[in-house]
Amino acid sequence: MSDTAATAAAALLDRIQAPEGRGREIPDAATREVIGRAPVQSVAELDDAIARARAAQPGWDALGHARRSELLLAAADAIDANAEALAHLLSREQGKPLNGPNARFELGACSAWLRTNAATELPVQVLVDDETLHAELVYKAAGVVGAIGPWNWPLMITIWQIGPALRMGNTVVAKPSEYTPLSVLALLSVMNDVLPADVLIGVSGDRATGARLASHPDIDKVMFTGSTATGRKIIESSAGNLARLTLELGGNDAGIVLPGTDPQAIAEDLFWGAFINTGQTCAAMKRLYVHDSIYDEVVDALAGIAAAVPMGNGLDEENVLGPLQNRAQFDIVSRLVEDARARGARIVTGGEAAPELGELFYRATIVADIDDDAALVQEEQFGPALPVIRYSDVDEAFARANAVDVGLGASVWSSDPETARAAATRMQSGTVWINSHGGLHPMVPFGGVKSSGYGLEFGVEGLKSVSVTQVVSGPGRKG
Ligand code: NAD
Repeated sequence: MSDTAATAAAALLDRIQAPEGRGREIPDAATREVIGRAPVQSVAELDDAIARARAAQPGWDALGHARRSELLLAAADAIDANAEALAHLLSREQGKPLNGPNARFELGACSAWLRTNAATELPVQVLVDDETLHAELVYKAAGVVGAIGPWNWPLMITIWQIGPALRMGNTVVAKPSEYTPLSVLALLSVMNDVLPADVLIGVSGDRATGARLASHPDIDKVMFTGSTATGRKIIESSAGNLARLTLELGGNDAGIVLPGTDPQAIAEDLFWGAFINTGQTCAAMKRLYVHDSIYDEVVDALAGIAAAVPMGNGLDEENVLGPLQNRAQFDIVSRLVEDARARGARIVTGGEAAPELGELFYRATIVADIDDDAALVQEEQFGPALPVIRYSDVDEAFARANAVDVGLGASVWSSDPETARAAATRMQSGTVWINSHGGLHPMVPFGGVKSSGYGLEFGVEGLKSVSVTQVVSGPGRKG
């Protein structure tokens, strides 16, 4: 990381942080030093933001698709021009290293998703066109969108929420997680260099701010990404304002390695499917079922990689794993691994904190000989600890993988992709990957089933989800 990026990050921070002595101090996830002060906005300021977004919406809508797309491309250019500074701030605040599938990767995704939003069309759909009737389905802006995000991929997920919303002519009030507000506010500030006033407004606060935004009578649509528990509260609040909801909630993704698979060929992809962003990823693999015939080889291969991958301060270019983002998440991971140990599971590598690296570092951990009832298998660990579970009957493996109440992603692994493909749809999940886990594409819809939420993001489906429909029905060809 160059001094130039650090200086540029400091300049971005100065644009958005609260004045000295005000706001809430935000720590560097790795060193715990204070990075800056997040503004804490009052209810009156939130209400004012929503009123301004409401007032700006008709003008933004009236610009039309072509002009909005141009402006979104300009916003993507602005992100690219500030990518190193934003990656620096993100790395410090969130903890993810600059390199690997982490901070620079996240900034690249922000730009790529926004460019795809700009380029994607949602045409009028002709429903009936005959002698007597011409009926069309038209997609229109929903109005004002409330975007509420988590702390794990704070910039990328914010873009997932706001890009399609802006593209369709909505205005947006975005509330970042209280753990990662600075990098998100900096991202919005950079975008606002090119967007018209009040089209995209950031509001920083805590959980109460999120609750107020979701339940506000003047919010038409809520894009929410976070825990299932919070998602349920947002569903309750939508009874009041009837806001449409897209809920991307928690997961506990399973992977199944079928018999006959070459462990060495898949080990690296298995590892990153689970440990991307140091395991703090919604659709990371959180339970791995491996057939008895290759179980030991897969466990050993994973443990070898886990022990060797560099972990440490994200600003050091060689690191690709970082700390847990916050103390609460660190405590969850420690508790689940200790519980597994107490139940007699085998800690193959890791299984302990790494205090020499910093307060919130936990070593990449592989846990073997663990059963389905263990809390590490049943609960979402959201950190660098993967349970590897043995099975001998393929049907039983699918039944065990599906025996949870969430269903975000899943994966099936085999040296014969056709065998894997044939089995894949047995997984109860919004996405199932074959011989990989967690890869996303801006044109391929993403969303969960069961308690992982509802609604789709990305591509044409993502544009539909931030729209309302109108049927236009008139005389047919006979006139
Ligand atoms: P969280 O639910 O604690 O917080 C998410 C956001 O909701 C924060 O901005 C928070 O301030 C806000 N919030 C809290 N209470 C609220 C309320 N009553 N009303 C409205 N907003 C409220 O989640 P988190 O800990 O930040 O994120 C981790 C969770 O998110 C994990 O379960 C993970 O699996 C999930 N996640 C899901 C996806 C996905 O795409 N499905 C992506 C990333 C993370």
